[in-house]
Amino acid sequence: MPTDEALPSCEINGCTDRATVELHIPWKENELVCAGHARVKVGQEGVVAAVLPDAEDEFPNGAAFRQ
Ligand SMILES: [Zn+2]
Repeated sequence: MPTDEALPSCEINGCTDRATVELHIPWKENELVCAGHARVKVGQEGVVAAVLPDAEDEFPNGAAFRQ
């Protein structure tokens, strides 16, 4: 994976996965998280997830988080 060094790590405590998704959270600052945590968080009301441009290869179908 050539993009490993370009991507930050997940901001969730204790998580060492690469961050591939930016969460836009109405009641707090944006978070950069891994795909797994994004799936959990995006279920919360108002949270919108955007795949980071550098991580698009990880979402070949495009779309899990696209609007
Ligand atoms: Zn994570």
